Amino acid sequence: MAAPAPRAMIVQYVAALALLVFSSLAVAEACRTRNVILVTLDGLRWQEVFTGIDAAIARHPGSIRYAKTAPAFESDFWRETAVERREALMPFFWKTLATKGQLHGNRNEGSAVGVANPLHFSYPGYSEILTGVVDPRINSNDKVPNPNRTVLEWLNARQDFRGRVAAFASWDVFPYILNEERARFPVNAGFEPSSLTNERDIPLLNALQKEIPSPWDAVRLDAFTHRYAKTWLSVRKPRVLLIAYGETDDFAHDGWYDAYARAAHRTDRFIADLWAWVQADRDYRDRTTLIITTDHGRGRTLADWRHHGPASAELPTTRPGDGETWLAILGPDTPPRNPDKAGEPLSAAMVPATIAEALGLEYEDSHPELEAPGPVPGAFLCTRN
Ligand SMILES: [Zn+2]
Repeated sequence: MAAPAPRAMIVQYVAALALLVFSSLAVAEACRTRNVILVTLDGLRWQEVFTGIDAAIARHPGSIRYAKTAPAFESDFWRETAVERREALMPFFWKTLATKGQLHGNRNEGSAVGVANPLHFSYPGYSEILTGVVDPRINSNDKVPNPNRTVLEWLNARQDFRGRVAAFASWDVFPYILNEERARFPVNAGFEPSSLTNERDIPLLNALQKEIPSPWDAVRLDAFTHRYAKTWLSVRKPRVLLIAYGETDDFAHDGWYDAYARAAHRTDRFIADLWAWVQADRDYRDRTTLIITTDHGRGRTLADWRHHGPASAELPTTRPGDGETWLAILGPDTPPRNPDKAGEPLSAAMVPATIAEALGLEYEDSHPELEAPGPVPGAFLCTRN
């Protein structure tokens, strides 16, 4: 047989090289996630996440709660470009999460995340995030035990997760959304004190929670939720933890844009603190996936940014934009993704299957007819044995 011509040899060489490069890219590392932390920020708009503070709202005198610190608010968070503004508002999101993980929902670039439920308020939103199904029976924020099983309850029923699931929330409806009584994992919500009374600063925090008035009847200040959750994390070492922060939504309803934006900034700091702890702990470091999202959006304009959901019981229509949300994933198995790039539409209902996939499981919802969608495509790149 004659030796191949030089040109054919080059073609063969290039083809072999291309195959080598392709196969080395396609071989993913072994999956490392053992723990999942789900974090929610109530009603934080994608507009603030991706473009920082909104000048039309921030410069309207009626939106400012703290007039004396209004110049400081402007210098803290106003920048000429959206990229600088969002980094100033949410530095952990933009310096760590967006570069090392995935941040979906930048509608300006064609990446849309939304809730699948038609109501665009909290109980239906959290129920969707936690059960993966949109059940029409979930149609109010009333303290009604969730008829559907959440992904947390599903995990806690498994032998490898039993007793290793916990939830901390600022809003006092979470024990019902999670159906604490049936689910049988600890839920600390509203103004409940922490049960870890022998731990470090917990006695002081429990006392302060009674002594410092919250501005709201049903929602405590997020600092308590954060510190209770972090103490539980370090002492009880759960494999699955929900932390549901609430201030963003309530300051927005009150109409105080500076307080809303500062709450978003503080929560970004809380999440940075949480991630720094995770990455410094030998049980959690490089074995923990963080998923962060919100239960609904809000109106788009100065006239209706405060609100979301039906304007009244008689008006079943929602406000333009209030079903638009965002979703973030950060962890050892998540390939980074350019946050300013178009992507396929995602829904809040994908969260349970995404949590399950992070843990190497296939989620099963409890509803006899409705079916939860699969996980966020491309959320994890790893191989399981
Ligand atoms: Zn609300």
